[in-house]
Amino acid sequence: MRFTRLRLNGFKSFVDPTDLVIADGLTGVVGPNGCGKSNLLEALRWVMGENRPTAMRGGGMEDVIFAGTSTRSARNFAEVSLQIDNADRLAPAGFNDSDMLDVIRRITRDAGSAYKLNGKDVRARDVQMLFADASTGATSPALVRQGQISELINAKPRARRRILEDAAGIAGLYQRRHEAELRLNAAEQNLARVDDVLEQLA
Ligand code: ATP
Repeated sequence: MRFTRLRLNGFKSFVDPTDLVIADGLTGVVGPNGCGKSNLLEALRWVMGENRPTAMRGGGMEDVIFAGTSTRSARNFAEVSLQIDNADRLAPAGFNDSDMLDVIRRITRDAGSAYKLNGKDVRARDVQMLFADASTGATSPALVRQGQISELINAKPRARRRILEDAAGIAGLYQRRHEAELRLNAAEQNLARVDDVLEQLA
């Protein structure tokens, strides 16, 4: 799996549609302070399912939508699309039936976020799982934001272990375990209700 293209529209400072081709090898983004370099990294993290406003340097999730300037009015939506070359068919099971994956996330004011994978509506969880299983994703240690190195140095052992687990590609297992526990709790509650009904009938 390899990222090949990032498209932004109305995302933070990228008010106009912007198309970045990510070529083979090392990619560097250079530019003066405030030109939007960090916003590009945030767009990557956001399209992979980041849902913490603090990780996006905002107060709320809608802060990723272009907020307007003295010369341009604010936008009503933001969209980021990430194209992934899956010719090596290394995408996790369930996402592996095509050579190219196109993930799109769009947020509209007052209407929240929606995701598409190869044109089909999918849930945030599906997109987060796709990247978590592939050892990348919104919380991947491969994406280093400003201040993160000093956070890592000062982190508690449990937080450091989480970073190693992300790198090992087992982050998705935590989410699956959590969902399995929720289903187990619901089943136990149903069983208790059945016991109550049986007791009343006896
Ligand atoms: P530095 O080199 O200083 O870290 P940078 O190139 O990484 O800068 P960013 O931090 O990515 O720049 O971009 C900051 C710019 O993005 C600021 O000018 C800020 O006003 C703009 N910006 C952030 N959010 C929005 C938004 N929602 N709408 C419009 N502009 C925004």
